[in-house]
Amino acid sequence: MFYQETIAAIATSSKNGSISVLRISGEKACETVSRIFFNKQGETIDLCSCETHTIHYGFIKNEKKELLDEVLVLLMKAPRSYTAEDVVEIHCHGGSFICQMILNLLIQEGVRMAEPGEFTKRAFLNGRIDLSQAEAVMDVIQSKSRIALENSLTQLRGDVKEKIRALREMILQDIAFLEAALDDPEHISLENFSDTMKEHTGTLRQEVAHLLKNSQNGRLIREGIRTVIAGKPNVGKSSFLNCILRENRAIVTDIPGTTRDTLEEEMMIGSTLLHLIDTAGIRDTEDTIEGIGIDKAKTAIGEADLVLCLLDTSVPLTKEDAYVLEETKNLPGVILLNKSDLEPAWKPEEMQDKFLSDENLQERKIIFFSAKTGEGLPELEEYLESLLIQEKISYNDELYITNARQKQALVDTAESLKQLAQSIEAGMPEDLYSIDLYNAYEALGKIVGETVEDDIVDKIFKEFCMGK
Ligand code: GDP
Repeated sequence: MFYQETIAAIATSSKNGSISVLRISGEKACETVSRIFFNKQGETIDLCSCETHTIHYGFIKNEKKELLDEVLVLLMKAPRSYTAEDVVEIHCHGGSFICQMILNLLIQEGVRMAEPGEFTKRAFLNGRIDLSQAEAVMDVIQSKSRIALENSLTQLRGDVKEKIRALREMILQDIAFLEAALDDPEHISLENFSDTMKEHTGTLRQEVAHLLKNSQNGRLIREGIRTVIAGKPNVGKSSFLNCILRENRAIVTDIPGTTRDTLEEEMMIGSTLLHLIDTAGIRDTEDTIEGIGIDKAKTAIGEADLVLCLLDTSVPLTKEDAYVLEETKNLPGVILLNKSDLEPAWKPEEMQDKFLSDENLQERKIIFFSAKTGEGLPELEEYLESLLIQEKISYNDELYITNARQKQALVDTAESLKQLAQSIEAGMPEDLYSIDLYNAYEALGKIVGETVEDDIVDKIFKEFCMGK
């Protein structure tokens, strides 16, 4: 065990609910709670002598024996607990005031207030979970869609840990063989070792490349599909956003910290999270296509996974429409012929002749739409769902590394393996291989937390919520 101190925190949300949970972890968890926990007869309940994984009914009283609350106490003794230490949970009546009083009482009794994420950090430092699992805990809490949740649970189960362990094991065996051969050249021959290494490196590179490719989908799963709504001013972008969100009102969330220039909203299409970005900045420009709004829109387009291009059918097509299509031509997307409730000023063929020479654009689905009447909305949703689920995110039982830190470690691993492959190809001496092998081994270790520095570990856990 790394810690002696016993810590406590309120584990439930600060809003009033029907119950609240306080969590206490550490060597003194049982004896501390025992001092403030009484049965109906007013006798103390000695949790230290109770069986693990039991629930106890009783009352919390302060030092003057005044009643604070009627509670249930859950006992989970080391090592079979969340932190692998003795853990006691006090389930009291909901209400932040009661909870705070009990927490204050525990602190008076010598327990320290836990830092955010400290329970999970202890689970990690006590070896119960690895870093990929610890990060999955946070992802589970923050999951915004069923797919994201399933993915985080897979990671929490330890699938990433197992995969990385297997890859590291492969590398370690090569390192061991190489070191042994260099130490004892008389008995261990390195003949043909380059060929073996070439094969091993090829396999490792494939595996890492596959994980990296999946991590792109991982981001989509976790953060949603970044979907830009593009179009010249007045084409109906804001109306479109309102229209699509109104249908999904119950699951719309505002995203804090968004700028006034791009309006961002989230919604679900089927089981996929769509992160919609209205490039409202374009509105700020005059009739030229230069300006700050354009830069912001360009940035949004550069980071997008999908684009919904709006064209106004009630006014003639302009060079701005051409500009919008040109700028977004490399993204998958949909062309929405908006305001189709009004008298059309042009026919779709005209657009095709004028603008759709690029083959990427020819592949785009074209939908007659009206942000005013909602025409085309079911068709759009159906199309998006099929596009997102079946083609863009072929979600299955694969591993999706969703975390940016873990992804960077994969990128570093891939780089070391690439250098290794180059050394082998160039016929470099075998002792040089071990440097790249070590680097790849270390980089992979960062994912599971075996080779990360303490300050990075601290930073990761600080992002957690209180009581977790
Ligand atoms: P934005 O500048 O692209 O965000 O465009 P707005 O959403 O502000 O819409 C510009 C104008 O077009 C507003 O007066 C809307 O009411 C109108 N508008 C938008 N969509 C439609 C539509 O489908 N049909 C009709 N008739 N008017 C629309």
